Amino acid sequence: MIEYLIVGSGFTASVICIHLIDTGINPKKITVIGPTKLGQGNAFNCPNDEYRLNVRSEIMWIYPEKKSEFTNWAKKEIIDNDALHSAGNFYKRSDFGRFIYSKLRKYLESGELCHEKEVIKKINKNNDGSWVSILSNEKELHSKNIILATGNPSPQWPFPIKRESLIKTESLIENPWDGQWIKKLKKNDNISIIGSGLTALDCLASLKSYNHDGEINIVSPSGNFPPPQAFWTRKNTPIWPNGNEENLLPSKFLNFMKNYLPSEPLESSKWQSAWEELRIDISHNWNKLPNKGKFALKKKLNSTWSRLRYRASPQSIKALKELKNKQQLIISNGYAKNIIQKKNSFSLLLNNGKSINSDIIINCSGKGKDNLNEQLINSKIGIPDTFKEALEVDENHRVLSTDRSPNIGLYMISPVLIAKFGDIVAANRLALQSMHLASILSSN
Ligand SMILES: Cc1cc2nc3c(=O)[nH]c(=O)nc-3n(C[C@H](O)[C@H](O)[C@H](O)COP(=O)(O)OP(=O)(O)OC[C@H]3O[C@@H](n4cnc5c(N)ncnc54)[C@H](O)[C@@H]3O)c2cc1C
Repeated sequence: MIEYLIVGSGFTASVICIHLIDTGINPKKITVIGPTKLGQGNAFNCPNDEYRLNVRSEIMWIYPEKKSEFTNWAKKEIIDNDALHSAGNFYKRSDFGRFIYSKLRKYLESGELCHEKEVIKKINKNNDGSWVSILSNEKELHSKNIILATGNPSPQWPFPIKRESLIKTESLIENPWDGQWIKKLKKNDNISIIGSGLTALDCLASLKSYNHDGEINIVSPSGNFPPPQAFWTRKNTPIWPNGNEENLLPSKFLNFMKNYLPSEPLESSKWQSAWEELRIDISHNWNKLPNKGKFALKKKLNSTWSRLRYRASPQSIKALKELKNKQQLIISNGYAKNIIQKKNSFSLLLNNGKSINSDIIINCSGKGKDNLNEQLINSKIGIPDTFKEALEVDENHRVLSTDRSPNIGLYMISPVLIAKFGDIVAANRLALQSMHLASILSSN
């Protein structure tokens, strides 16, 4: 019987391993199941040199007291002059994946820590309270505890696609996160990119570095890209309203944030410093909002919030500017609705009636659905959270069952637990979730 079964092989799975081992748990008690090399996951499994971290290297920490650990490792282990910028060092995401792997290498190579490159498709509860996980190769694993660290589900097309009526489907890139699509490109291809967030910027940086000659179309409702990271510092501590109270009205939450932010450009250090000062206590205050208020705020702010929170590496914004200056970029405001086969290419149809002739279509519309979460909900082991993006968990990361009681031995740590914990997407927030869970598990 496995003591701790960790599902996923990304950053979160790795940092929970690291923190569990730090608390004195023997690595032999831990088994990891996930398809990528440990540490890579969806975010850092990208052997594409233009896919860079979207925050400076000191933000990418495993321990709050060792914020420079990755920076120091990078200075020693890699030569990457393009990473250096006045806003900080923005290394390749694949290098960060290597750094995380290096933290666990000795346990993996000695066989003390077991990692199987597989996917878990089903989880059931045994009558004795233990868990049985079924892998996609039908193997069964029995464990006392399961920690779901399954992260951001891989992207899916934002509209149904009739694959049987399409040929050359290898030119339809549903998941561009690993950056391998660039190998399929011809110099003059007409490219359509659905979305204008960080993944779209990754694609533009790759196209720029490849000196791509063809037309590049961006389809996005707002047509806005995230602003670049500035060199920000936290100097002040905002005093949030209703400090000692348990509840906060969404209007008070919003107005406080609006008033705290200076009337400066989003790209400025001043604005970004104030924004980052707010983020320190944002999750705590988010938790004071009623569920209905969280939902209303999410609906109202979602795209603005994502754009400001996920600021971009200066390198990707430089590529965007260069493509704009070359007048190679055509931005169409609207939603992509369908893909139609033309003779040797595709037509991307928009909700405003426009159609764009495309040789390659890249889906940068964000994360998709998590099949394992769905199975757990359908089996009545878990329930969906308020935003229907993750499983509902309690303060101690225990997955709640249909009667809202916590499942014994089933935990989730994840960037998608936003409804419960607020602003938690970045790697360092996941490191904190992992530390919290590791201390709970080690004291059980
Ligand atoms: C493309 C991308 C770039 C990002 N860049 C940054 C950045 O620069 N800086 C930053 O701070 N944050 C970044 N993030 C945010 C990111 O959420 C966190 O930093 C962190 O990497 C998330 O790690 P994770 O392990 O939870 O998730 P993921 O990286 O999504 O990894 C989850 C892993 O679990 C696997 N998995 C899923 N389901 C199963 C299953 N049923 N069985 C087995 N395995 C399963 C997946 O295949 C995947 O390998 C990025 C996110 C994405 C998607």
